[in-house]
Amino acid sequence: MISLAEAQSRLLALVTPVAVEIVPLLEANGRWLAADVIAKRTQPAKTLSAMDGYAVRAGDGPEWTVIGESAAGRSFAGSIGKGEAVRIFTGAALPAGSDSVVIQENIARDGDTVLQNDGVPTVAGDHTRPAGSDFKAGDCLISAGMRIDAAKIALAAMGGHGTLPVRRKIRIALLSTGDELVRPGDPVDDDHIPASNGVMISAMLAGWPVEIIDPGIVPDTLNATRAAIANARGSDVTVTIGGASVGDHDLVRPALLAEGATLDFSKVALRPGKPVMVGMLDGTITLGLPGNPVSAFVTCLLFLKPVIAALSGALDPLPQTQSATLGGNLPANGQRLDFVRARIAKGLVEAVGTSDSAGLNALSSANVLIMRAPGAAPAQAGDSVDIIRTA
Ligand code: AMP
Ligand code: MG
Repeated sequence: MISLAEAQSRLLALVTPVAVEIVPLLEANGRWLAADVIAKRTQPAKTLSAMDGYAVRAGDGPEWTVIGESAAGRSFAGSIGKGEAVRIFTGAALPAGSDSVVIQENIARDGDTVLQNDGVPTVAGDHTRPAGSDFKAGDCLISAGMRIDAAKIALAAMGGHGTLPVRRKIRIALLSTGDELVRPGDPVDDDHIPASNGVMISAMLAGWPVEIIDPGIVPDTLNATRAAIANARGSDVTVTIGGASVGDHDLVRPALLAEGATLDFSKVALRPGKPVMVGMLDGTITLGLPGNPVSAFVTCLLFLKPVIAALSGALDPLPQTQSATLGGNLPANGQRLDFVRARIAKGLVEAVGTSDSAGLNALSSANVLIMRAPGAAPAQAGDSVDIIRTA
């Protein structure tokens, strides 16, 4: 059995990022940038007013004659001399000769004469956004390997870009194995269960750059499992769910081997999720996830999402851990790295429900997993723990 860190690095070592494509800004949302985004323009291009008021020259005043107006997109063409002001609005360019703005709240206006009435001398730069204060042409705005989100899309747009280079979507074949499974929503007797893992994993990948091929439920025969794996050739990752232990009905390993896959590892020292199987079949990464729903959830977070991120060119494909303060006590941990279903609220994290790896009720009320190191001593309320967000 290998450690989680070793398993993740062996999995990521199998990855070659997929081809680059150029897509419109919005289509890049949730994908990883394939090349640095360089600003094509300076923002702001000119020094702008940050407020509604009057553009003036610092040290001048407190009384001015208003000689014109500068609005966003319609700059004042002339220039300001001593004793002169220009009515100005947020986002408008400062007229030549001015260097500051007196906000309208501090001004009394009588015809073309304005009088500052707060008694505070104006300092150069007051209520302005200097040219280039956000970024300058040629600056690197976003580095290759970062994940694109709404703010980065806005930054790229402001930098003059209408498209972004990203990796093509990752093709995932998602095979649910098991004679006991029926499709979610179909009639189910007491010998069967709904195949909840397929929809769960698809939902976990919502907003991720993937195309999921789900051929339905694969029965527990070697031939059916082999055929499903063979049909999945050409995907970037073939994910099998269930059938990953060593029971008589656990056919994923023999089917993979019969199809010619090389297996890298098949057991990781974590709980839940020990029977994770990773291999390669003709350039397709094969990832066997355990069937127990919580195990499938945890291994999707720890293995499937990272491999998709790495194939997509992510700089930092592994899930982020954070520290949090315990709101309750935890017992000593066993010999495997444990991911405890827990809930964080108002800055405190507490375990929820059972540690059963099939317990979906506890999983659905959790919003984080607490990571408990192998052999960790009992922990008390107030102690700091590492967590991973799940929702
Ligand atoms: P297995 O690894 O196939 O022995 O599955 C372990 C446990 O997970 C069994 O109780 C299965 O019934 C259950 N299981 C397997 N696949 C799924 C699935 N797609 N959805 C929900 N439960 C599953
Ligand atoms: Mg099974």
